[in-house]
Amino acid sequence: MVRESPPLLSVVIPMFNEAEVLPLLVRRLRPVLDGIGESYEVVAVDDGSQDTTAAQLIGAARTWPQLRIVRLRRNSGHQAALTAGLHRSRGEYVASIDADLQDPPEKIIEMLAKARAEELDIVYGVRADRAADTVFKRRTAGLYYAVMRRLAGVHLPANAGDFRLLSRATVDVLKQLPEHQPVYRLLVPWIGFPSGTVNYVRDHRAAGRTKYPLSKMIRLAVDSITNFSAAPLRIATWLGAMAFVLCLLLLVYVGVSFALGHVVQGWASVLASVLFLGGVQLLCLGLLGEYLGRLYAAVQGRPAYFVAYDSADEPLPAAPTPSSEPVRNDPPVSWFGQPAGRP
Ligand code: UDP
Ligand code: MG
Repeated sequence: MVRESPPLLSVVIPMFNEAEVLPLLVRRLRPVLDGIGESYEVVAVDDGSQDTTAAQLIGAARTWPQLRIVRLRRNSGHQAALTAGLHRSRGEYVASIDADLQDPPEKIIEMLAKARAEELDIVYGVRADRAADTVFKRRTAGLYYAVMRRLAGVHLPANAGDFRLLSRATVDVLKQLPEHQPVYRLLVPWIGFPSGTVNYVRDHRAAGRTKYPLSKMIRLAVDSITNFSAAPLRIATWLGAMAFVLCLLLLVYVGVSFALGHVVQGWASVLASVLFLGGVQLLCLGLLGEYLGRLYAAVQGRPAYFVAYDSADEPLPAAPTPSSEPVRNDPPVSWFGQPAGRP
């Protein structure tokens, strides 16, 4: 389906293997958006799902003209899927929300009203209560926001994830940024346009399982830190300085012992310091490598995602397309690769 004038609101929903939750999502989201009484589009970014998500979306789009499907050729990660959705959205305002109904779709109305009434460019959904998350998730998320505040120095609203509303101007700025692996929860506050918040209670996942294993969470944390700060590089300097001082002290000790006629024993301590210094050096090399990897990826300029089809540009596929690709939950990534999870 091809639509001419841009809608007032785009709702971007990245989804990866969300077949279980999709019927619930459609049932809850559609009345909310229909109720606004304004034009809207839902940009469902199917992040290379291998279950029946693609087929279900096509089925739903037949009776829901505002539902637009952007299917990615392979699983590219949540932030890349979000990028695809933001880049293709056309609305004057663009909301992003998870597919699993942890963020209440009803709040989009509140965000929109607030943005329009107060002329805001950004409205963050702030999780007033994370009781629905596991203790582990809450702790790691708390740590993540604390570290990012310290390192990135940007005005970072606590507990604001990827549930937010952006104005067209903000989306256009985001589109221009040459970031290779954008972490939107940091980038958006960095843009610093007039912003407000809407509190909400984070619910349980309505169905299905989390698509964020620990590895993806760690990946996002590393991406976040290295995207926004060179502080880790300074760790190398500090460690080096500390090791130097330690070595000096050791030399003094050796000298004094020698002068007093003691035989310097203790190969264990020598071995320990050798190991310590070796460890420090490898750590520093790793840090340098992380940044060098980012630089390399940026120079290569490979796209973060590939679009298989966009139902706004072409008719819906005639029949549901169950994936014939081999089952793979992650794209092949180099160690400084693209997809990212989030805490
Ligand atoms: N997601 C995605 N690609 C991925 C992983 C996740 O598009 O590779 C989507 C997922 O379908 C969901 C959102 O990102 O809509 C958040 O994922 P999830 O709810 O599993 O994360 P959690 O809430 O457990 O952090
Ligand atoms: Mg979730």
